[in-house]
Amino acid sequence: MDYAANLLTIESRIKAACDRALRLRESVELLAVSKGQTSQAIQALAQEGLILFGENKVQEARAKIPQCPPHLKWHMIGHLQSNKCRDAVLTFDFIEGVDGLSLASELEKWGQKLGRIKKVLIEVNIGGEGSKYGVPPVEIVPTLLRINEFPHLEVHGLMTVAPYSPDPERVRGFFRKMRECKLDCEAALGAPLPQLSMGMSNDFEVAIEEGSTRVRIGTFLFGARVRKNFDKSESGYNE
Ligand SMILES: *Cc1c(COP(=O)(O)O)cnc(C)c1O
Repeated sequence: MDYAANLLTIESRIKAACDRALRLRESVELLAVSKGQTSQAIQALAQEGLILFGENKVQEARAKIPQCPPHLKWHMIGHLQSNKCRDAVLTFDFIEGVDGLSLASELEKWGQKLGRIKKVLIEVNIGGEGSKYGVPPVEIVPTLLRINEFPHLEVHGLMTVAPYSPDPERVRGFFRKMRECKLDCEAALGAPLPQLSMGMSNDFEVAIEEGSTRVRIGTFLFGARVRKNFDKSESGYNE
């Protein structure tokens, strides 16, 4: 796998999407989704300058992280089980995908016990799909206001996994709705939220055009995953 070539292609497409949206390239972070990939593959991309990596299983991340360069930043993406909150707080720099108050309470409990303050994003089920995790759009403002009161959680914004379509134009409306959710949250908070994590291999350009500040890209960077069959109970995302 030619990781350097994959990265160059993605970089040029991110830049082009930023140009179309009159945005600076620096306004979008690239998170390499390394679930199901080996630590060798992660090291190869780290050598190309990538720093942010996303995993969706706490145990897998804990096995791989010690084999990777220490300057990398690790994000938990997708669904987190409440019995994994302690390890997640210890392992990850950022927890994306806080999908409700009960998970937030559990993370707050461990943040307090362990003396850590965690950066989090709140996951929105923007397509209203029964198969996906996340807070329904109509509940996002009250949920965010509650979670924002937890002293050991720092709410940086929202994340979503948009419904899948082979034609990314068809998910543009969901990304636009996410941006509106973020504006509603900011109005209710009276403060800006820096992050809107949305867009994956299939739809990241449309997501950037609609305001994404962090695209999460796996397949397009690494090639197909080594470990298959990760399921929605762990990732909130179906292959
Ligand atoms: C797997 C996954 C991704 C990356 O998906 P690709 O299609 O491989 O780019 C992004 N976000 C979440 C939450 C995921 O589970």
